[in-house]
Amino acid sequence: MKLLFATSELYPLIKIGGLADVSNNLPVALKNRRQAVRVLLPAYQSVLVPLKEVKVIAKFDLNGYSVRLLETHLAPSRLTIWLVDCPELFNRPGSPYINAQGQDWPDNAQRFGLFCEVAAKVATDELGLNWLPELVHCNDWQTGLTPVYLNQRPASERPKTVFTIHNLAFQGLFSYDVFQALQLPSELWSSEALEYYGQLSFIKGGLVFADQITTVSPRYAEEITTAEFGYGLEGLLQARNDKLTGILNGIDNQQWNPQTDTNLVHNYSVDLLSGKIKNKRALQRDFGLLLNDKAMLIGVVSRLYKQKGIDLLLQNIAAISKHAIQLIILGTGDSKIEGELIEAAAAYPVTVAVQVGYDEQLAHQIVAGADVFAIPSRYEPCGLTQLYSLRYGTLPLVRNVGGLADTVVNSTTETIANNTANGFVFDEASPDALYESILHAASCFADKNLWQNLQSSAMKQDFSWGRSARNYLRLYQGLSKP
Ligand code: ADP
Repeated sequence: MKLLFATSELYPLIKIGGLADVSNNLPVALKNRRQAVRVLLPAYQSVLVPLKEVKVIAKFDLNGYSVRLLETHLAPSRLTIWLVDCPELFNRPGSPYINAQGQDWPDNAQRFGLFCEVAAKVATDELGLNWLPELVHCNDWQTGLTPVYLNQRPASERPKTVFTIHNLAFQGLFSYDVFQALQLPSELWSSEALEYYGQLSFIKGGLVFADQITTVSPRYAEEITTAEFGYGLEGLLQARNDKLTGILNGIDNQQWNPQTDTNLVHNYSVDLLSGKIKNKRALQRDFGLLLNDKAMLIGVVSRLYKQKGIDLLLQNIAAISKHAIQLIILGTGDSKIEGELIEAAAAYPVTVAVQVGYDEQLAHQIVAGADVFAIPSRYEPCGLTQLYSLRYGTLPLVRNVGGLADTVVNSTTETIANNTANGFVFDEASPDALYESILHAASCFADKNLWQNLQSSAMKQDFSWGRSARNYLRLYQGLSKP
């Protein structure tokens, strides 16, 4: 199939969260299955600068902007990337979404609106690229208007569309003035279309107009049809339930492989787990924690926002410091949470370590060196870090939501007996429920044989992209049939 994958993030060129990983891994997995995939991405400054090989494949004016389409290829996969180069909108320093002050770029609607319009033009070969995709896969609100623009063409003259929700909390909301400035057809200003309580909603473009909606785990697909997780969009999602499915993300098994990972102090495998402890000792040493093999080291690598439930951990620091439990956190995000974590590390210097920032290598070292990996999220569409942790024999301790619930099996007498246990799961988003789960993990950790069995079950699980790519391909093929 010819597939156009539109995204606002793509690892390793530009990454804010899990969307970047998916935008690389899924297209590469599809390419490996001999599908013709092109990934469409805005040409942010930080993407353009390091690129050596780029070719201009189209040049045109749109909405008063001059735009070029550039082609490049990702190494080592040779995946073809098409970059939407509109310097006025994308060639600026910093994050794709926010300025240096942490506020949304004021012209985000123009930026991603233009990106969506270009995606629709590419998808109908209006730019003369001599390439007509059978399907366009859109991701998150930044691509939400693509199905809207495509729907303005006769059904026979447009490809089918899939819209994937990676996180329903981000919706791309703008004022009515912006709706007018984008010159969207006035009939779209309706709660049946793009209006969301008096605002323009980009994500509704995808949710209302895409031929199929997917999200990144079966559990999250159910959750978003409820008021608790639906952000007021649950009614729409219920109405479109027959077009809504959950497909679990996978992980890059080469990038995340404890046997070959070059970021680690010591490589190890399920058959040779002894190397794992050396990674733990290195972390304890590097971060000034007590050098103690018997202390259960909990790792966290996360964006630091309320979603991720880091506050629940913070409220437990005094309590867990009374036990042989240590905590190491790598993350960046909300400055208040960052500040509280730094204070906690200062108050408990030999049991709590915090590094604020984004650090790919340290992320790998924490996933490898920790005994337990905590993800106490309030909601979690899929989550990738529990999948990395499972592969590294670092048992995930997670809340019973979204993709976490679909991938982590709580260690109980029954699940231990039938060898399905691979971590720890708690229900309520409360400090007490988290604390209980941590103590439960600590009691299992104290039993060396049990712990090794749990690690072995975790490490033998397969969450590679092959399975997910097959599911997506089946979906694409079903949709594109006449
Ligand atoms: P989300 O997309 O909500 O941030 P995911 O678990 O799906 O959560 O994906 C997060 C990705 O970002 C993972 O690959 C994780 O390792 C990475 N990550 C998050 N914070 C950091 C950080 N501070 N340093 C390095 N990697 C990080």
